[in-house]
Parts: sequence; structure tokens; C-alpha cells
Amino acid sequence: MITTRQEIEQAIAALSLGGKTLFIHSAIKSFGQLEGGPDTLLDPLIAAGCTVIMPSFTYDPLCSPPAGAPAMADTAYGGHRGEWLLPPTRPYDYRANEIEPSMGAIPRALLNKPGRVRSQHPINSFVGIGPLAESILAQQTLQHVYGLYDNQPQAWVLTMGVSLTSVTPIHYGEQQAGRKLFQRWAQQVNPSTGEVDTNLVAIGSCSNGFDKLQPYVQPIARELKVGASDWTLYPLQPLITRCKRAIQQQQAITHCSDVNCLRCQDAIASATR
Ligand SMILES: [Zn+2]
Repeated sequence: MITTRQEIEQAIAALSLGGKTLFIHSAIKSFGQLEGGPDTLLDPLIAAGCTVIMPSFTYDPLCSPPAGAPAMADTAYGGHRGEWLLPPTRPYDYRANEIEPSMGAIPRALLNKPGRVRSQHPINSFVGIGPLAESILAQQTLQHVYGLYDNQPQAWVLTMGVSLTSVTPIHYGEQQAGRKLFQRWAQQVNPSTGEVDTNLVAIGSCSNGFDKLQPYVQPIARELKVGASDWTLYPLQPLITRCKRAIQQQQAITHCSDVNCLRCQDAIASATR
């Protein structure tokens, strides 16, 4: 099965994506063979005036707490109990193109495009291109990790061959439902001084149970088959709000299938602290 540029262009027209802000979560394998590679997807979106934002996470900058760091409650540090293999640490540099292999080929291609912008969060960075990319990514801070979703009434979430377990904005719904974000220490190159800073940053929890939110977002989902890939388009703010409400009503709804998952346990418990 092959997906062609023409099919991508037809999808952009059918979903009226031109000029829109799109938070895209994708799996290149869902396209079968994407004729010409990731640029066959990215270039028509850019040509249509879209602002395209994708996650470009990196885990190598994670580090142990620095000497003398204040002790944090175990749960507030959720999942840190042996989950991460910390050393060796590689400091994050937003000017470089390091990215977790699990992010996939499409964000990696966007990262390597001239003119791309990347946020400065050492663990949960995002990469973007297009008219609003710089101003959107500037809204993310080391602690307000989901700030990029603020003040985006016209933005959309577009999944390409992935389910809700890949949809990062749902983490913002968790936070708005009262959950506390996890805290991690991470190293990054300070662009002003060139030195390596060790910073405390907020990150999201386990997303493996997010598919249970499907019934709550289905009414606002618009689905389209694009070549071999199943796309779903959601308006960003209603997506976050619907997930927030569902989690508020039933905090355990997002618990993944691993009953022993420390991150799910801590995230759910954090809502009542
Ligand atoms: Zn879990």
C-alpha cells in the first residue's frame, strides 16, 4: 500500500486544513509506503500555510537530583523509583536535532527542516514550522510544559495512524482535572552562556490508558482515510475540556492495563493531594 502526495493534498483540502494550527501526532508506518518520505506529508502542509507542531521529546538529558537539592515527596516525584536508567546524561540543546527514536520519522524530518523552531524544554520539547510556530512554542516553559496549548481557540489536533495514547494535549486535561505534574531533573545547554544548567522540569505521566477516553471525544472527532493512514481531526480546546471533565468524574479512567504502573498510581493519587 502506497500513500501519495496527491492523496495528502486531497486530504488537506477535504479537511480544510489550509492556514490552520495543527498539533500532529503520527506514525509513518500507518501510511504503508509514504511515497517520497516524510516531506511528502510536510511540504504540502507547509505550502498550505499551516502551522505544524509535533513532539520532539528527548530522555537522555534526565539526570539525578543535584547535591543539596530539596527532597521531594515520593509521589510528587512519581515514577522516579527505578524507572529511569539515568546515567549517562546528555544535555539537551534546542539548536541540535537529537530526538528519541520512539518519536518517529515524521517529527525527526520536521526537526531537520530549515526554518524549524524548537522549544527549550529538555525532556518534552516540541518542534514546529509555520507562521505561529515561534509564538506557540514560546508559551511552553520548563514548568508550564503544556503552555503551548494555551490561547489556541482555532487550533486542531490531528492524529495520523495513532490512537489517543499518543495525544499529548490529554496530559493538559489531566492537569486541569487536578493532577500534579511529575518533576524531573534534567541538563541542558544554556544558549546564553554555553554552560550546562541542571533544571527542575515538569513532565507528563503515563498515557497508555488514554484510549479509554475515546467515547468522550468521539462526538468531536472527524475521521478520514488518507492513502493507507487513518487520520482523526479534533478541535484542540474541546478535546482538552472533554478529557478534563471525564477525568474529574472518574480519576481512575486513565489507569493503563498494568495494575502495578507507578506512574498511573502516582498521577491519579496526586489529584487528591
Ligand atoms: Zn500506566
